[in-house]
Amino acid sequence: MPQPSNLTSSSIIETRSLVKAFGLLPALRKLDLSIAKGEFVALLGPNGSGKSTLLRLLAGLSKPTSGTLTIGGWELPREAAAVRAQIGLVSHRPLLYETLTARENLRFFGRLYALPANTRETRITEGLERVGLAKRGDDLVRTYSRGMQQRLSIARTLLHDPHVLLLDEPYTGLDQDASLTLDGLLTEAHRDGHTVVMATHEMDRAVRLADRTLILARGSLVHDAPTAGMDALALAAIYTDITGMASAR
Ligand code: ADP
Ligand code: MG
Repeated sequence: MPQPSNLTSSSIIETRSLVKAFGLLPALRKLDLSIAKGEFVALLGPNGSGKSTLLRLLAGLSKPTSGTLTIGGWELPREAAAVRAQIGLVSHRPLLYETLTARENLRFFGRLYALPANTRETRITEGLERVGLAKRGDDLVRTYSRGMQQRLSIARTLLHDPHVLLLDEPYTGLDQDASLTLDGLLTEAHRDGHTVVMATHEMDRAVRLADRTLILARGSLVHDAPTAGMDALALAAIYTDITGMASAR
């Protein structure tokens, strides 16, 4: 795993008074957040609370309106190239080319991330095996189910072995089998020391996989606590209490 080379504190993600507004509407309001290297954080909150906005800012895909944002000590948006080498984002959309095979897709992204040619094919084969697509690697992505596309987009995200994994509701549309594969991949990534930030509505997965849960409501951080000793029911009760919304489960 490439180490973040510009790190001065134990936190790999830092935001200070981070604001993102669309027109006059603030989607994130003065967010102060520190995430430690290797931490697995579940990001909860009702629809429209700002989860995707935060993940897109962290991924360097959109610029803050005000405030500061650093990843691995590199500042966004100024040092976006250095940040992008360290992060991988799994978003709602799979970001794949349907007219290419799975292997061709990974080759394309491997070149984009400047993976050395001599290790590229090995990493691609390993990646396909890891997500259970080894036998379908030479099929066109167009013929893939939603679950298979999601698995492939995870293989793409892991291809350059990013230090920080950002996931936006990655379980949406996955069948049970694909969900279990994803559980395994995320557990492994966490164990290997990756930092993970995952937006989800699934309370049971949040407490099972994450070290810490954050709840966003209308662009503000309204809850920040470790998951140790917490079960899904207790978390759901806190969620309902704070947001006034029923949780997904
Ligand atoms: P969540 O992911 O928690 O459902 P989002 O981050 O997608 O929430 O959205 C937060 C708020 O920002 C919402 O009010 C949404 O309508 C608004 N928003 C998000 N993206 C845009 C955009 N590109 N243009 C305008 N408004 C946006
Ligand atoms: Mg969202």
